[in-house]
Amino acid sequence: MRKAVYPGMFDPVTNGHLDVIRRGSVIFSGLIVSVGCNPLKQALFSVEERMEMIRHNVKDFKNVEVDCFEGMLVDHLAKRGTNIILRGIRTASDFEYELNRALTNRVFDKNAETVFVMASEQYLFLNSALIKETASLGGNVSKFVPPDVERGLMQKFKRLQRKNTT
Ligand code: ADP
Repeated sequence: MRKAVYPGMFDPVTNGHLDVIRRGSVIFSGLIVSVGCNPLKQALFSVEERMEMIRHNVKDFKNVEVDCFEGMLVDHLAKRGTNIILRGIRTASDFEYELNRALTNRVFDKNAETVFVMASEQYLFLNSALIKETASLGGNVSKFVPPDVERGLMQKFKRLQRKNTT
């Protein structure tokens, strides 16, 4: 039995991510959802906010934990005592991006293995950027994210809108 790390930005976590987490928790003996702190990728939610939203929504999965990491993913894997990375694939463009990342990780640690799950049909089109754009325009995202994430998005955009008007 092996544990795996599921890394990502999760800005914010969507029902698509939660579907991957649920399925990963069945495949592996333990799953660590690791929120990336990447200075090159500007996030709407802080690392703490992203971790809290994931924790809230995985509390029923007993073998899932949530942490964060900065720097190289392979170093984080070593710290967490595993060489397995879980990632999801939605489209052909995801495949090219993910293949690139998987091969790059293997350059830095030849034992790093990436395991992919294919997105479920209902989440094929779902990504965090689309959710943020929809929420920023006042669209209803309740079908795509859990209720606490929807509330978080509404608060962020109200706050940003308020900032812009002062
Ligand atoms: P990144 O910024 O590294 O792409 P994301 O938070 O966007 O991080 O995604 C983390 C992982 O989850 C990636 O492997 C991505 O392909 C996967 N993923 C995101 N949304 C979905 C979805 N709707 N269905 C399946 N996998 C998904």
